[in-house]
Amino acid sequence: MATFKAPKGTYDLIPPVSVKYLAVREAISAPLRNSGYGYIETPGFEDVGLFARGVGESTDIVSKEMYAFETKGGDQLALRPEGTASVLRAALEASLHKQGNLPVKLWYSGSYYRYERPQKGRYRHFSQVGAEAIGAEDPALDAELIILADQAYRSLGLRNFRILLNSLGDKECRPVYREALQGFLRDLDLDEETVRRAEINPLRVLDDKRPDVQKQLVGAPVLRDYLCDACKAYHEEVRALITAAGVAFEDDEKLVRGLDYYTRTTFEFVHDGLGSQSAVGGGGRYDGLSEMIGGPALPSVGWALGVDRTVLALEAEGVELDIPASTSVFAVALGEEARRVLFGKVTELRKAGVAADFSFGGKGLKGAMKDANRSGARFAVVAGERDLADGLVQLKDMESGEQSAVALAELIDTVKARLA
Ligand code: AMP
Repeated sequence: MATFKAPKGTYDLIPPVSVKYLAVREAISAPLRNSGYGYIETPGFEDVGLFARGVGESTDIVSKEMYAFETKGGDQLALRPEGTASVLRAALEASLHKQGNLPVKLWYSGSYYRYERPQKGRYRHFSQVGAEAIGAEDPALDAELIILADQAYRSLGLRNFRILLNSLGDKECRPVYREALQGFLRDLDLDEETVRRAEINPLRVLDDKRPDVQKQLVGAPVLRDYLCDACKAYHEEVRALITAAGVAFEDDEKLVRGLDYYTRTTFEFVHDGLGSQSAVGGGGRYDGLSEMIGGPALPSVGWALGVDRTVLALEAEGVELDIPASTSVFAVALGEEARRVLFGKVTELRKAGVAADFSFGGKGLKGAMKDANRSGARFAVVAGERDLADGLVQLKDMESGEQSAVALAELIDTVKARLA
């Protein structure tokens, strides 16, 4: 019979590597949990219109990469390609924004789906941890999020990442710039698709990676020259707050990002060891998104950090995460009676909060000791019929190799004391 493989562009997280993913999710979310962000979980799929309206019809994410489908009941749904639109939809639906407690600060962790051309660091199923601060226009909030992301990466031991920062202006100044840019783009020699993009979303043409396009873009009007006074002041305040926190960043006036909803502050975290898929995370302010999806005006800011690429970045830097062995004690039972007694002790150890495992499958001493080694346990507890007849077990320190007899009745206390 034919065997099955993980679908193209996806991969399985399996031990021992999978623990790195858990550690990365933990490290990214820790600063958020410590800063007033509450956990939110939304469905893996939504009404397709939410993303079409929120993320933008003209974006690659919506026009080319969305897993959209019709259900048997006739609903038009899509697997979520990103988190922000869903989180805002959920906050609006639950009226979190009406309870006089703005900003609503939320964090999430989950799977996202984009039908992209797979390559290293770019998958069709990937994982993000994200944060959204909904309902306040306050440069300190933008700064907080950037500082927390920086803290998350640093706590993992990452060093070779850079923060790119830009302002995309607001509904006052961006349209003026947009028109100026469109005028410039109309005089260039661009292919049909890019011409169309220039009409729908000219800022995204700036993001075009092709050298022949980039060459033509020299001399294009720069958004910075068009920012209104309010946007300029806002951006300066964000920059000042991040600087005061000791977080280094680079101004990047070309940073536009692939989602339409961003306004004012936008930023991206890039890692230099990752080749073409260098963005490990990104985000920004999305003051208009709530109204785009039918809600009231709720100026907001957020980011999403990619877990898969963060793991790749750690590998590129050669960072070994300090992940403690999951098992502290491994019990090796020789014979039926010993199995019963030691299995009981393993249960007791676990209840006492000691991570313990057992030699299942009736293995002999040699095979069972191999398992004990592989488990990474600090101690092996070995017992045969003769030990037990004397009320003893052998406690072996797997680091030093030293072994001593311990009274069965004192095993739990002894192990706890020696692990402490
Ligand atoms: P975006 O919503 O495109 O700004 O993505 C935010 C972050 O999610 C990126 O910086 C990546 O780390 C990650 N990401 C986005 N798309 C993919 C993908 N196809 N495969 C792996 N990670 C991705």
